[in-house]
Amino acid sequence: MNDTQPTDSRTGTRDPGLYWLAAVILLIVACLAALPFVSSREADSTMVALKNVSDKAHAYDHLLDLLKDAETGQRGYVITGDASFLAPYDSATAEMPDALRRLAPLADGPDERATQAEIDRYVHLKLDELARTIALRRTDGLPAAAAAVGDRTGKTYMDRLRALIGDRVDALERDRHTLRDRLATTLGYNTLLGILASAASALMIGVALYVVRRSLRGRAQAADLARRQAEDHAEQARASQARSQRLAVTAEMLQAMDSLTRADELRDVLPGFLPQLLPGSAGAVYLYRHSRDFLQRVATWGGAVHHPDLVSPAQCWSLRFGRMHVAEPGAGLRCPHCGDGAPGHADLCVPMISQGEVLGLLVASVPAGPDSASDQAAANAISEQLALGTSNINLREVLRRQSTVDELTGLYNRRYFDETLRRELFRAERKRAALALVMIDLDHFKRMNDTYGHEAGDIVLRAVGQVLREGVRRSDVACRYGGEELVLVLPECDAAAAVRSAETIRATIAALELHHGDTLLPDVTASFGIAVWPANGDDAATLLQAADRALYTAKHAGRNRVCTA
Ligand code: GH3
Ligand code: MG
Ligand code: MG
Repeated sequence: MNDTQPTDSRTGTRDPGLYWLAAVILLIVACLAALPFVSSREADSTMVALKNVSDKAHAYDHLLDLLKDAETGQRGYVITGDASFLAPYDSATAEMPDALRRLAPLADGPDERATQAEIDRYVHLKLDELARTIALRRTDGLPAAAAAVGDRTGKTYMDRLRALIGDRVDALERDRHTLRDRLATTLGYNTLLGILASAASALMIGVALYVVRRSLRGRAQAADLARRQAEDHAEQARASQARSQRLAVTAEMLQAMDSLTRADELRDVLPGFLPQLLPGSAGAVYLYRHSRDFLQRVATWGGAVHHPDLVSPAQCWSLRFGRMHVAEPGAGLRCPHCGDGAPGHADLCVPMISQGEVLGLLVASVPAGPDSASDQAAANAISEQLALGTSNINLREVLRRQSTVDELTGLYNRRYFDETLRRELFRAERKRAALALVMIDLDHFKRMNDTYGHEAGDIVLRAVGQVLREGVRRSDVACRYGGEELVLVLPECDAAAAVRSAETIRATIAALELHHGDTLLPDVTASFGIAVWPANGDDAATLLQAADRALYTAKHAGRNRVCTA
């Protein structure tokens, strides 16, 4: 772009307004500069007029002087008869025609020309009178000449000439005064105009400089604005890229969480995502235990191992306030479970809330500084996503429980048993390890129901269910096969070990002391039939039949006992 072109300060395009302004300023400055010149032309012409007036006054004066000289010469010669007195007369009369001729072109208007004609006439009359008396003296002597001078004709001519010339000189003197006043005024104006023109020019140049400077500053500001806008756009682009990356990671995390069946599996999933979502952070995720008296740590990341396993809700300000709590380094309320905190880091606690219910707690230590606010916003968003994911896991856990667990006893249901037995047999075959199946049937349960009521029967079933759940290994599966018949699947368990387990459970059931209201219920016993893969059966059906037969044997042998197939 051409820098001499006036440009618009914001867009950098050519600005016709500045052209016009420059043209107007130039015109005004030119006019102002011309004013003193015009005014001094006026002064010049006044000066010329003044010189003319002065020249004319001198010419009239000179004419009068010549007349006086001629008269003086005539008087001297008439009185003395000495021809040497005629010298002034001779020179004056010789110059006279020249003096008259010089006056003619100086005449200014018809009045003066008329005056000059009269002067001319009287000059010639006077010269004739002087010549006549001089001739009379020469020819007739002093008395005749003196008489001629004494008849006052010459004096009359001279008086008339003095009056005419005097009037003229007075008029010229008045003109000169007028011209001198005009000249003084003109020169005064001229000076004033000069000062004004200089001041106005300076003002105009000032205005022009101001406008140019403002335009330049505007251009600089526009460049500055453009630079800042570009920076803002870059920052926005960076932020939006970070946001979309965060969204992608969040979506991936939610997807991973959706594949979990139990909340404690979060331990394996979250450490892969949280450092990406909160760069430079360390922290832990807690979930409420079922009892809801404590929060249990399910995951940590960024080496945040100092977080305690359990946190009581009273220990966390965020759980007390029901919103995010930020503990800046060395300032404000600190949650006891956060410890002393890492130097230069802020500790964020964010409750994980889904549909108004607090499910857990996100604790993160993030670098304190300019990004802290965006980290806080991110932590809030992450805790919402974690709450959503966790609530989905919980929902799935409940649904799964509802579809696989018997409500009364808390044992797995028949459907789950069928699946488990098939799966465990398959696994046992692959591992070439034994598998034991234990069928259990409560003794004389019909009698219990009939005597103490169905509710009492339910109390017994619930208690026996608990004994089974607590009496087996983690890898064992305890199920309600139907009614008061229960079954255990014991993977990697031979007949002897199965008998030991069954005996323990049998004894525990027999030792139960159960009440229905105030009534102490009679002792409960159960009979056990054990079958072992592969010795007693190849598949689920034959194995079940073998176990059932063993149970039948136990019943017939007197109940409250364990029999093997
Ligand atoms: P046995 O020692 O020979 O097994 O005698 P039993 O009385 O237990 O005989 P049986 O197995 O035929 O009786 C099963 C009874 O269990 C019948 C039924 O009323 C009761 N029962 C089955 N399911 C439930 C239940 O969910 N709640 C209650 N209270 N009773 C149940
Ligand atoms: Mg039965
Ligand atoms: Mg029974």
